[in-house]
Amino acid sequence: MKNLVMDKWDEILEFARSEYNISNVSFNTWIKDLYVKKVEDNIVYITSDNSNITSNFNHISTKYGLFLKTAIQEITDSEFDIKFDNNDEDAGNDKKSTSSSKVSHTGNEGLPLNPDYTFDNFVVSKNNQLAHATALKAAESPGDIYNPLYIYGDSGLGKTHLMQSIGHFILENDPSKKVMFVTSDIFTNELIDSIRKGDASPAAFREKYRNIDVLLIDDIQFIIGKDRTQEEFFYTFNALYEAKKQIVITSDKPPKDFTTLDERWRSRFGWGIIVDLTPPDYETKVAILQKKIDLKQSEGANIAIDDKVISYMAENINSNIRILEGALTKVIALAKIQRMPATKELAEYALRDMITPNHKKLITPEFIIDVVAEHYGMNPSDILSKKRDKNNALPRQIAMYLSSEYTDCTISKIGSVFGKDHTTVMHNVKKIKQDREKDVSLDETLKVLTNKINPDI
Ligand code: ADP
Ligand code: MG
Repeated sequence: MKNLVMDKWDEILEFARSEYNISNVSFNTWIKDLYVKKVEDNIVYITSDNSNITSNFNHISTKYGLFLKTAIQEITDSEFDIKFDNNDEDAGNDKKSTSSSKVSHTGNEGLPLNPDYTFDNFVVSKNNQLAHATALKAAESPGDIYNPLYIYGDSGLGKTHLMQSIGHFILENDPSKKVMFVTSDIFTNELIDSIRKGDASPAAFREKYRNIDVLLIDDIQFIIGKDRTQEEFFYTFNALYEAKKQIVITSDKPPKDFTTLDERWRSRFGWGIIVDLTPPDYETKVAILQKKIDLKQSEGANIAIDDKVISYMAENINSNIRILEGALTKVIALAKIQRMPATKELAEYALRDMITPNHKKLITPEFIIDVVAEHYGMNPSDILSKKRDKNNALPRQIAMYLSSEYTDCTISKIGSVFGKDHTTVMHNVKKIKQDREKDVSLDETLKVLTNKINPDI
């Protein structure tokens, strides 16, 4: 088994090249000189003697890792994980810089926190200054001064980032704290599950949520108006509040706009403090782009971006920071592929579909894949993989469905992004469309995702 991957390595690389249409220049630059160092515990360790390749393993892994993994599976008929190993016994540059710049708080409850969503990485400006300062204070004295902390604002303005920064901060100071980060659709789905299992007063569900120190609940708007979930949420809210546990809530609107919500409940959101995030101005957008570039560089990426490119993006992409970041990623990717500096001309070309009056074009299947992957705490490459288990298949089908709903792409184009044929895409799109009619929790998830994709900007 071990040697099968090594024996068939050339065949595997050729398969990847032809199956995924890897261009000659990319193949010759990044792939050709890769070889298998060892195979251990179902992990294929890939390395190279060429330092231009090893120093770009981050890029190669993001861009071609999935292709290689799938090719290995196709050719050997068995599934392996792959690791890029730069031959440096005491963990290469990649790993060192990653561990110093990233904090991984996996010990927390609920969904994992995104290691990049820290206060350090949050750019403070006048549109978010108050929210930032308030969040920091809440993090410094959890449960004490600002409880609950309610953060609202439009999609893509940093609510989740700020909320998770609080979680990181608290865990950094006291790793024994139980921080629960949960999106409102997951909260809803867990409740539905526990009720479905016949638990009329969902004891286990309640116990789980009562037994924490910090509750970070994201996008509460999807809970409001759903009687049973809302009731259960306030039950949890009251229990935590009375026990002086910190509650942080985000939403797309202020409490007063939840007109269907009983005043008694609505006022509860205001017991602590309510702050909002507003769209960034030009300078803030520039600063955020710069921060994201620094972050990528600290992770080992070698990026040279012209200042003109940064101003071009900041001037032309309005309001939504998630989309601004997507634009940056696109420019960097193109510059790397073409092995050219990221000049304004290159950026104009890379963003020709994004920077246009027709906003629908802003949303690409790739963007949707990123959003869905982030939502499920998985890698975009898992969505594009051939793994058939439910954990991978459902997000993949959802991403196809959303791509067909919110992008201009034809089914065939979507198929080519996902590496699937026309019929498969059609089938999956139809399946999700039908399932959401019957399945409340799926419908919930789709609403949350649609909000994140934010097709209406
Ligand atoms: P929301 O939850 O409001 O939809 P997110 O918190 O998911 O938005 O933010 C979208 C993206 O923008 C994230 O990648 C986040 O890191 C980035 N972002 C938003 N605001 C800032 C900021 N002030 N500084 C740095 N990055 C930011
Ligand atoms: Mg969010």
